[in-house]
This record gives sequence, structure tokens and C-alpha cells, in this order.
Amino acid sequence: MNSSTSPLPLRRTKIVATLGPASDRPGVLEAMIKAGVDVVRLNFSHGSPDDHRRRLQDVRDIAQRLGKCVAALGDLQGPKIRIARFAEGPVHLEAGQPFILDMALDTYAGNSERVGCDYPALIDDVSPGDRLLLDDGRVVLDVTSIVGQEIHTHVHVGGKLSNNKGINKQGGGLSAPALTDKDRADLKTAVEIGVDYLAVSFPRSAADMQEARTLLGEEGKEIGLVAKLERAEAVADDETLDGIIIASEAVMVARGDLGVEIGDEALIGTQKRIIKHARTLNRAVITATQMMESMIESPLPTRAEVFDVANAVLDATDAVMLSAETAAGEFPVETVEAMDRVCLGAERERLAQSSGHRMHEGFERIDETIALSAMYAANHLTGVSAIACMTSTGYTPLIASRIRSGLPIVGLAHSPVAQRRMALYRGVVSLPFDTTQMEPTEVNQEALKLLKAYGLARPGGHIILTRGDHMNAHGGTNTMKIIAIEQEESGE
Ligand code: PGA
Ligand code: MN
Repeated sequence: MNSSTSPLPLRRTKIVATLGPASDRPGVLEAMIKAGVDVVRLNFSHGSPDDHRRRLQDVRDIAQRLGKCVAALGDLQGPKIRIARFAEGPVHLEAGQPFILDMALDTYAGNSERVGCDYPALIDDVSPGDRLLLDDGRVVLDVTSIVGQEIHTHVHVGGKLSNNKGINKQGGGLSAPALTDKDRADLKTAVEIGVDYLAVSFPRSAADMQEARTLLGEEGKEIGLVAKLERAEAVADDETLDGIIIASEAVMVARGDLGVEIGDEALIGTQKRIIKHARTLNRAVITATQMMESMIESPLPTRAEVFDVANAVLDATDAVMLSAETAAGEFPVETVEAMDRVCLGAERERLAQSSGHRMHEGFERIDETIALSAMYAANHLTGVSAIACMTSTGYTPLIASRIRSGLPIVGLAHSPVAQRRMALYRGVVSLPFDTTQMEPTEVNQEALKLLKAYGLARPGGHIILTRGDHMNAHGGTNTMKIIAIEQEESGE
């Protein structure tokens, strides 16, 4: 550790920011990281493997220089189904007119009567009576009949339609598998460039996540999988939802596509349900899409956006995500600053700090029991300033952080992989801590020294320490120690 330590961040909710042309402008990425980005998202829907490699290298360089821990999340495009292109630019569809999605039409031959589609199997997935939502629901088509390779529709809501806009089916039910050939290639790139987390788009069930896990293989075994919940069937029942959550290290409330498929009125409760299930099942959760959408073009968020971010914080999300705001917007740095401010404001609310998490449940694991007991003690004993967890993988801090608290959880870890894994967990800050050269009797003292250097252990107060008998052994946490600061000063 260097002696000129910077104060630790106060914000508990983590910020995920998507990289893109906006963050590529000189000085912007560094300013975004200084403003508080915890995790960068490399969006494989845009850009080349070289773009992602270069951006990740820049992130690692800047983080190292600033002494910050910033994780990287690769995000696979998935089977987003799109219309093809129009011969003469965007068309205008009128409500009531017929319109055809023509699987056999040339890619460039669309007009105001028909357009092609990049997923010909769509024809097998729809039947008369289905509703198709184009361009995130801005244009709505009702399927009237299927004629050969043509899906005949009646325009329910008209509007402008331009090249390659997305198609969702209301209520879900599109057969496309979650991992396309492009995703398989991008997954290899993600492993090669060394992302910390990898997001799978449009998983239908746990099996899709397991398939991604198999593809990651031995080489990608340290990468945490994130399931993007954005299909109606993924959240339709608790069994499917919980299965996907358990098969992943984290999940994303992918409100863009999910909201189109299930409708915005159902999205409200679904966000809360996903966050609650993820936390109960000991997984991290990211809330995403349009959180500060107006800041693509404006230096200030709307009041509605302020309250949307705050609502996600009060729902106990681990992280909030920025998409086009930081990838393509005019004010990427201001957006991160606004998000930081709003999270901090929301976290001051009592609701964000008190917890009834698993109060009436039994536990199965020793480390889990210690982590939860430590949080219970920290939240109830007067004068506790931090919970410090010696950890090899970040697991104990993850479990501890499932309980709401106003106190910092410090993950003391040797491995940079574990440190970056913790970058997503709410309320957790990681500090590098290498016990390999320490005598077993010195370890607690050294941990305390580090906490003091960061202003986390105040004389007269307490810190709570968790650890195992054998350092660096996974799952070995079996001890919780409450340390009164002065006592420790006189040697123990
Ligand atoms: P996307 O996913 O940004 O890759 O579309 C997030 C969402 O659908 O909300
Ligand atoms: Mn999506």
C-alpha cells in the first residue's frame, strides 16, 4: 500500500458505464473514472474486437495510475432480431395500413409496404393475433396472417421506421437461441482481452447460461457471468427466474428489451422482484437502460430520471448502468457525476440502510453464516466503522453486502481478479492485501493498520473482521472478530 492514501469512496451503489465514441474523446475516460465509474461495459453490439481491446487497455492503465479498481463487463449482442433496410431511407407507416415483414425480400429492398428481416425463422415463431413491437415499441404491428415467407400485419401504431430497427414480440416466445455465432466469436475475444464479467443477452433459461459457462471453459473460468433479463419468458415464473439467477454470478434488469416485451406497467414490479430474488440468492444485480437518457443531450438529468435512479437504489440494486449516455452522449462525465450525486442522496434514506434480509431463514454454509452474523453485529453494535473481510475470491463480502447497511464492507484480497469482482457489489470496497509474507500472528494487526491508514478504524470505535484459519483458501471463512481500536493499539 502506498502511504498517500486517498479517502475511500462514500457511495455504496456502483456505477456501470458503457464505453463508446463519446468516452474515446481525449481525457473523457479518465474523467469518467475519476468521477466514480466502478465497472466499464464493452458493448459487443458495436465496435470491433480491436476497439474493445484498446478501450480495456486504456481502462487498466488509467485505473492503475489513479490507484482505483475498475472492472470490465463484456456484453454479448445476443439474438436481437431486426428488420432489414429500406431502399430509399426511412418510411412512415400509418395506423390502419397493411405492412408485410417479408423473409424472402432482399436486404436493401424495403419500402412502405414491406421490409426484409435478418432472422428468417421469425416466420415460424409468430401466428395471427400476435403483436410485434418495432423500434422499442414505437411502431406496433398486429399479425393478421402468414402467407408463404410473408408475415402480413395491420399497423396498430404508426410512425417512422428506419433501417435495422429491432423487433420484439409482445409476451415473448421468439425461438432464437441466446448465443449466436457472432456471440461465440465475441466470447473468445472477451476471454482473450480479459474481461471480469461477461453478459449474455436474451437468455431464456438456466441452460443458456450453462452453455455460455461451457464456452468460457478453463481459460475463462474466472469470468463472472451476467444474465440479462430481457425476455418475457425469463421472468414469467419464479422457477425460471431463480434458475437463471443461480446459473449466473450477477443479473441485469435489462429494462430496454424487457419493458417492450412485458409492457411498462409490468416492468415496475418486475424490477423489484428481480432485485429481491437476486439478493436473496446471493447474486449481484445491475439495473440498466435509460436511467439518465436525457443526458445524452443535456447536462442535467430530469427530475424523473433522478427519481428513477433513486428508486433503483432504494430497491437495493448493486449497480446502476449508463448506456448511450456515456457511450455516445454529449455529456458523459457530467452524467457519471449526476449519477454519483443521486445515488449518494438516495443512500442517505433510512430505507436504504435497514434490512430484514433472510431474518427468518436457516443458513447452510459456515462462511455465509459468518458473513451475515458480522453484518448483523455491525448494524447493531454502537461504534462500528467498518466490516473487513479477508477473502480470496470476494465471496464473503458478496454475502455480507446482501444485507443493507450504512457501513463500508472492505474486501481485503490479494488477487486483482477478486478485487475487480467486488467492484460490482454494493457497499463493498476492495483493498489489496497480501498475507503471503506475513506471520499468522501478524495478519490481524496488518489488516488493522491498513484500515487505519484509510481512516476506517477510529480510536474508541470498533471494526469487525472476518477470516478463515487458513488464508487464501476458498470458502474458509469461519471466524468473526470484533476489535476495539485502543485495545489493539496496546498489542494483542
Ligand atoms: P442492450 O440491453 O442495451 O444491450 O439492449 C439492455 C436492455 O435491453 O435494457
Ligand atoms: Mn437489450
